[in-house]
Amino acid sequence: MYDVAISGAGPTGSYCASLCAKAGLRTLLVERETPPWTKCCAGGVLMRAAGRLDVPIPAGIIEKEVRGFIIRGNDFEERFRFDRCLTYTVDRKNLDNFLFKNAERSGAEIIGGKMVGEIVERDDRVDLNIGGQVVSAKAAVIAEGINSRNAMKLFGPYPRDAKAIGMRVILDTEEDPGDVIEVDLLDSPTRWPRRHPMFPLMGWMFPYRGRANFGVGGHGYSRAELEAGLSRTMGRSIVRTKGPIQRPESHPIPIWPRRRTATNRVLLVGDSAGLVSPLSGEGLSHGLHSSILAARAVDGLLEGNRDAFREYQQEVQSTVIRDIKAAAFISPVLHWLIGVVDTGEFFRVVRRDEPYLNAWTRMACGEESWQTLMAMTIPRFPRLFFSSLRH
Ligand SMILES: Cc1cc2nc3c(=O)[nH]c(=O)nc-3n(C[C@H](O)[C@H](O)[C@H](O)COP(=O)(O)OP(=O)(O)OC[C@H]3O[C@@H](n4cnc5c(N)ncnc54)[C@H](O)[C@@H]3O)c2cc1C
Repeated sequence: MYDVAISGAGPTGSYCASLCAKAGLRTLLVERETPPWTKCCAGGVLMRAAGRLDVPIPAGIIEKEVRGFIIRGNDFEERFRFDRCLTYTVDRKNLDNFLFKNAERSGAEIIGGKMVGEIVERDDRVDLNIGGQVVSAKAAVIAEGINSRNAMKLFGPYPRDAKAIGMRVILDTEEDPGDVIEVDLLDSPTRWPRRHPMFPLMGWMFPYRGRANFGVGGHGYSRAELEAGLSRTMGRSIVRTKGPIQRPESHPIPIWPRRRTATNRVLLVGDSAGLVSPLSGEGLSHGLHSSILAARAVDGLLEGNRDAFREYQQEVQSTVIRDIKAAAFISPVLHWLIGVVDTGEFFRVVRRDEPYLNAWTRMACGEESWQTLMAMTIPRFPRLFFSSLRH
């Protein structure tokens, strides 16, 4: 019997497996794909996310160290430049396979190319059906991403209206795209603040070495609207592509955390638990954080702490989900402001507010929390509003 079986070897599953194996647990990691596989993603690894890993991301995997942003709307374009790297860009094929191999190097047993079918929780163990064979473990971690069938069976369906959708394509560029991310505010956000987080259509260009990851994401848009947004983003970009145009891939993005993330013997991590922020994305940052907490909880359970999984759920609530909720609070405020004020002026006001801008960069680097940003946003609201009102 394994100590722990982990289903899904995206970044969160692989990292959790590596931590469990390093803690001396007999660990099994199962992935339905055979390496190398890829995930539809922009590939932004905030320094905050990279800092959660106990191994550095190899230089060969880092496409770019990003030091600048261009934020663009229909009638404005603002450029921000920073004196340090805020985010790496990576090709997810390379990152996921690095973390998968890292789990193996750490001592986890690996099964690739096999799907975890049913997971049945018993009093003293968990039974997993892996390609028709039943394997038992004392605990299980579900890291199957947002479309996880096992999370749905054990924890109920993920709310449909909390799923946004992202679409991306990676293309060769005529010249190297540099170290600047472009963000395109494609849709005029809702005019009325909503309680639920908003995710108006936005586009991006993430630079890779000699390539660029173009994409769009948003909540409540049709495929045709996403495709139209993607071609607008590509048309407005300063980066020119070359070679054949490929068909973009799309994938859902969770924008609201699940209420429950643990049973007696099963934990949810990453996208399976809905741990993505509606404002900043950072699925990798939140997901890796949950992997660290999950590995600790599994170790605790096997050490005899019967409350370890309940404590995991509480800790995810008081750290990761608290962060996501703070971002979810700021998100409608900022999106509403962007919808009603002169957006170019809004970003110029933000840029002139050095402490506020510093707090955003420190947050990207993992030195500041979303709670601090929320506390800084509330008193600034009147100034952000009145000084950037349309004349
Ligand atoms: C278009 C787009 C852009 C994004 N951009 C960013 C970004 O720039 N930065 C960022 O931080 N986040 C970004 N995200 C979010 C990020 O991709 C996710 O938060 C992250 O991949 C979550 O990792 P995960 O390991 O939880 O799940 P996943 O990466 O989805 O991995 C799940 C794994 O489980 C496997 N699996 C599923 N079911 C089974 C099964 N039954 N048996 C065995 N294996 C199974 C899958 O094959 C997969 O490998 C983006 C998402 C999208 C859609």
